[in-house]
Amino acid sequence: MDDRLFRTAMGKFATGVTVITTNINGTIHGMTANAFMSVSLDPKLVVISIGEKATMLELIQQSGTFTVNILSKQQQEMSMLFAGQIKEERKVNFGDLQGAPTIEGAIAQISCEVASAYIEGDHTLFIGRVKEILLEEGEPLLFFNGRYGALATETTMQV
Ligand code: FAD
Repeated sequence: MDDRLFRTAMGKFATGVTVITTNINGTIHGMTANAFMSVSLDPKLVVISIGEKATMLELIQQSGTFTVNILSKQQQEMSMLFAGQIKEERKVNFGDLQGAPTIEGAIAQISCEVASAYIEGDHTLFIGRVKEILLEEGEPLLFFNGRYGALATETTMQV
């Protein structure tokens, strides 16, 4: 099957946008990711999927920890920065959640310890055991069809 067809089909799944952060020997690294989901309530587990070429892969393997930062609609520039789409270097002031590095202003900051890892094709799935959560007010940044967006209206239905 054609790679482009697969990518286009996957892009039809509208998602939020996260920046994954990890701290390795005092140096914080961030990476934009939308392959994120909740896995289990008891115990509280999430999953992220990291490509084999990403610098982040080895860093999470070494640190054994990561934070999922769900971006607000004001943070598209953060997404672009941590996806390598902004070429000039930027200084980012990271937050701290009980020792875990966070993106300040992200609407949910979820620190995790790696519970297990599964190599599947050219990605590694990291299952994270949730340690701490910090919530901030705001609406999410969205990603669909390769483009950023935001909610058009307030949502009224609760699930
Ligand atoms: P690099 O490419 O080295 O770093 C990424 C960028 O972050 C660089 O520009 C770097 O300067 C900047 N940066 C990192 N740390 C800091 C810091 N401390 N201060 C300032 N800047 C810093 N890839 C996946 O594997 N899984 C996904 O789920 C995924 N989802 C994506 C969703 C979207 C919407 C987009 C746009 C991209 C997604 N990607 C995903 C691709 C991924 O974000 C890029 O391939 C990314 O460049 C890989 O990062 P890296 O770890 O290799 O680090």
